[in-house]
Amino acid sequence: MRDKTKAIHEGYEKDSQSTMAVPIYQSTAYEFKDAKHAADLFELKELGNIYTRLMNPTTDVFEKRFASLENGVAAIATSSGMAAIFNTIANLAQAGDNIICSSKLYGGTTTLTSHTIKRFGIEARYFDVQNPHNLEELIDGKTKLILFESISNPSIDLADFEKIVSVAKKHKIITAVDNTVATAIHCKPLELGCDISIHSTSKYTTGQGLAIGGIVVERDNLVELIKDNPRYAHFNEPDPSYHGLVYTSLPFPPFSLRMRLSLLRDLGAAPSPFNSWLFIQGLEHLPLRMKQHSESALRIAKFLESHPKVKSVNYPLLESNKNYSLAKKYLKDGASGLLSFEVESFDEAKKVADSVKIFSLVVNIGDSKSIITHPASTTHQQLSAKELEDAGISDKLIRLSIGLEDCDDLIEDLKEALED
Ligand SMILES: *Cc1c(COP(=O)(O)O)cnc(C)c1O
Repeated sequence: MRDKTKAIHEGYEKDSQSTMAVPIYQSTAYEFKDAKHAADLFELKELGNIYTRLMNPTTDVFEKRFASLENGVAAIATSSGMAAIFNTIANLAQAGDNIICSSKLYGGTTTLTSHTIKRFGIEARYFDVQNPHNLEELIDGKTKLILFESISNPSIDLADFEKIVSVAKKHKIITAVDNTVATAIHCKPLELGCDISIHSTSKYTTGQGLAIGGIVVERDNLVELIKDNPRYAHFNEPDPSYHGLVYTSLPFPPFSLRMRLSLLRDLGAAPSPFNSWLFIQGLEHLPLRMKQHSESALRIAKFLESHPKVKSVNYPLLESNKNYSLAKKYLKDGASGLLSFEVESFDEAKKVADSVKIFSLVVNIGDSKSIITHPASTTHQQLSAKELEDAGISDKLIRLSIGLEDCDDLIEDLKEALED
């Protein structure tokens, strides 16, 4: 099946009521048939529902559908994108270990990797995703994960998958890609040789800014990398917290199995069934929306590139862009609605952000409603001029998340704001 069909049908078998729409199973717990049934479920002799912190029938449809769009075998939905990223790290690393991260990451992921996990004894080392020449030097026997974004937010750069994956495979290290911005429609990290794909479903998956959520997708046959790999001893030795279970000895995808049985159980970042249901609605038209977001963003990028008051434009599908060759190689049929541009001065940038009428001044992306941000006066306001420069953010930079409004109206809005 192709993406547009999977997005509408995959993972749902009609229940006894034959409802066309996936039902919302708004329930905390599930009744066991008898004590033996309960014991069999806990021992994984039989699969079934126990408690919504571990699994839920509505969330199950969402996970199956999402895994299928990413061409993965299993997925675990979480309460937010940040929870998805933290659970991925926690599933692999412990105190004394290190992970290697892209230097261009979402702000929350940067603070998580450089500050929060440090307090748990896990070190983060950083590399350049576009030019990963120093990646191999950062690896040692304690390296458990290479983490990067397919299209980075907010810098809108592309990762050089081939180079990163070849180093990871040589050293038998798991790669996890945050695919939030490109989405499973325009980039398939698992087809490009990566092991785990992560999303904040708060962005394009909901598509209308309706709910916070995340998901982690595992590739087929990841067991071949994890089994007997000394980096991942905890997947190959009995888990004393689950009466001696050995994750790689069971016929289930081991990464997801451990995340569900151990981490959802103990850390509890489970999604609400209602939010899973909202994400299922979002997935149904994700392929159509991504096509429109990407087409409008490219038109707007071209308009801005030709405008005399605009100094530079960053959109990966512009032929003049530094990411163009990587975008051609790794993106399918489009990019995303994210683009940025620079005007002449800080005051000019502030004026544009203040004068647009259709765009809203908001710190979010991936909404049907177009969004404008001026990082220097909002999200990055606390940084000094030097820190802004190091983060690659000039005070003349404006960031846009192009929504689903008529593209001609968006262009007129920007034109008037630039000429005011
Ligand atoms: C928003 C975002 C996150 C965090 O997701 P939340 O759902 O807000 O927790 C992580 N990565 C990227 C690329 C994002 O855009």
